[in-house]
Amino acid sequence: MTTTSSSAPRPMVEVRNAHKRYGALEVLKGIDLTVDRGRIIAIIGPSGSGKSTLLRSINHLETLNEGEIFLDGVQVNAPLTGAAFERHINAVRQQMGMVFQHFNLFPHLTVGRNVTLALTLLKGMSEAEAREVARDQLAKVGLADRMDTHPARLSGGQKQRVAIARALAMGPKVMLFDEATSALDPELVDEVNLVMKQLAAEHMTMLIVTHEMRFAEEVADEVLFMDGGVVVEQGPPAEIFRNPRQERTRGFLRKYL
Ligand code: ADP
Ligand code: MG
Repeated sequence: MTTTSSSAPRPMVEVRNAHKRYGALEVLKGIDLTVDRGRIIAIIGPSGSGKSTLLRSINHLETLNEGEIFLDGVQVNAPLTGAAFERHINAVRQQMGMVFQHFNLFPHLTVGRNVTLALTLLKGMSEAEAREVARDQLAKVGLADRMDTHPARLSGGQKQRVAIARALAMGPKVMLFDEATSALDPELVDEVNLVMKQLAAEHMTMLIVTHEMRFAEEVADEVLFMDGGVVVEQGPPAEIFRNPRQERTRGFLRKYL
């Protein structure tokens, strides 16, 4: 694996000059981003600005056309090919938890099995060990008693908490949230946001794409406003929300505040 060598403290996530094109459409136009350990970055911006593409590129669900991604000093999009790259990316992905808008739980598996599956398959845990981890993580999101329930019997907020527990069970170095609450009924948003706040209190490194400006202001150390595939403005929440410098940022926020 390729590593960076430097005496400065190593960022947890680093994105350098990320470019992504779909055909003629350039969706990421040279993104640079450094996330230090334990920091929480909220990513805001209009639909189509490249927020999901950026998150998906970080754990290599999308392949960049140009640029580098590092996780804790290890290059995610390492210049490897074939089976060597597959081994590399599988190892790296285990260190990143991703939570999507639409839960992506396996409907035919119980809640417990949704959480234990990767632990047994990828981490080589026994079913008993994995169930113990699952129980702990489900307890953290308030669902310890739902181990043997199927996802169809859960509310959207509960499903999303299972998805978070499943990601956390792998012991990730960073959590990526892509509009984790956008598909939820309004009354279910808070229970999911609360779990993210809990993680923040535990100093989990997080990148959170969100349309909830109030939540972003509360939870984030830094806010990044994207538009048209570039980072237009970034800074502390108080600055971005109360005193944005760029007209594009002001125009966007006017619709929310
Ligand atoms: P956001 O998450 O900010 O709404 P996305 O990253 O999803 O934005 O999308 C950015 C742009 O890339 C949009 O114009 C979208 O239509 C386009 N796009 C995303 N995924 C694909 C794809 N697989 N093929 C072609 N275009 C895509
Ligand atoms: Mg998106």
